[in-house]
Amino acid sequence: MSLLSFDLALAQLLAGAQPLTDIESVSTMDAAGRVLAVAQTSAMNVPSLDNSAMDGYALRCADVPVAGTRLPLSQRIPAGSVGHSLAPGSAARIFTGAPVPPGADAVVMQEMCDSDSDAGGASHVIVKHVPQRGESIRRAGEDIRAGVEILSAGTRLAPSHLGLAASVGIAALPLFRRLRVALFSTGDELVMPSEVPVAELPPGAIYNSNRYLLRGLLQQLGCEVGDLGIVPDNLPATRAALREAAVGHDLILTCGGVSVGEEDHVKPAVQAEGELALWKIAIKPGKPLAFGHVRSGAGRAAFIGLPGNPVSSFVTFVTLVRPYILKAQGVARQLPTALPLRADFDLVRPETRREFLRVRRNRTGGLDLYPNQGSGVLTSVAWADGLVDNLPGQIIRRGGMVSFLPFSELLY
Ligand code: AMP
Ligand code: MG
Repeated sequence: MSLLSFDLALAQLLAGAQPLTDIESVSTMDAAGRVLAVAQTSAMNVPSLDNSAMDGYALRCADVPVAGTRLPLSQRIPAGSVGHSLAPGSAARIFTGAPVPPGADAVVMQEMCDSDSDAGGASHVIVKHVPQRGESIRRAGEDIRAGVEILSAGTRLAPSHLGLAASVGIAALPLFRRLRVALFSTGDELVMPSEVPVAELPPGAIYNSNRYLLRGLLQQLGCEVGDLGIVPDNLPATRAALREAAVGHDLILTCGGVSVGEEDHVKPAVQAEGELALWKIAIKPGKPLAFGHVRSGAGRAAFIGLPGNPVSSFVTFVTLVRPYILKAQGVARQLPTALPLRADFDLVRPETRREFLRVRRNRTGGLDLYPNQGSGVLTSVAWADGLVDNLPGQIIRRGGMVSFLPFSELLY
């Protein structure tokens, strides 16, 4: 079987991703990490009024022709109150965020003024510089104008987006519901650390690290995870797990059992319960990947089967499954942005597959390579802060530029 290119595999996965259509209204307070279904428009200007950027004195520039001009104080305007029209020839004591009174055309910060009380107690201010019109005034609408779009559909909501929505009075947001993903691991060798202590680990058994890894990755993408645990290496158990997983889930994600050895039952199980394409992708680590669906009553759940080796699972998840999930969630921006960075290592043997290397940024702005790039070496992933995306046939020379995918673009 010839290898499928990474780009083709990604394109086919994205073509098969059906975006969610169910929309729910959620309090803006609880919307972090969720996906906005409908663009949001501001019904107001921000700031709503001209207001002071400083603690100081609001005045008319025309009343301060020279530095050292002394003006009587005619009012005091703290934040949260509104003043009244500024009497000509006077100044208003004003505080940050308070509306600038009608008539005033500048605020002079208090550090540039002396306050002055005469014997009768009436306060004055001595303005020590000649102000310019508009000085220290935040104009109404300078941040947001009423009627403009502030958030586009398909935005994954970060705390900054929630603050922005709140700043224009939006208390609840229309969101796509969460994607429901069923997860299980296959393998008779797998045990859970919570069930078998190290001293009692039978020979040949290994801990199910992928369950933790994949569950965490799904949760960080905002999925609701239905965790079905470990499924033994036989056809009836695998088929039963698939039937159970297809109920109430949009996607079934599995790891292990997608090679074509006689202990690999995922392929025939999915074929019996639905439809499956098994791809050998020209990607390192992580060659085999299964994509299809499992029937469930009148509906179906999408199916993606990842290879079992932990680093292969990780790399195929972040490079291929993540864009699929983002599209299914209704997210507009599905692909990560790579940065050109300097390699502080050599990779002189050309690789026929597209390779994703575990690397870390160093203090000089270059990239260090984790010494053991084996597909079972999970330490490399825990150590790294990103991947180098290296095209087939490409060698890397120390000092040359490479394409770096930071984990901030792959894990969330
Ligand atoms: P498989 O894809 O099932 O042939 O598994 C490939 C390799 O990954 C084998 O060495 C498995 O023991 C290992 N492996 C499979 N599933 C897991 C898992 N859930 N956690 C850790 N290692 C696994
Ligand atoms: Mg296996």
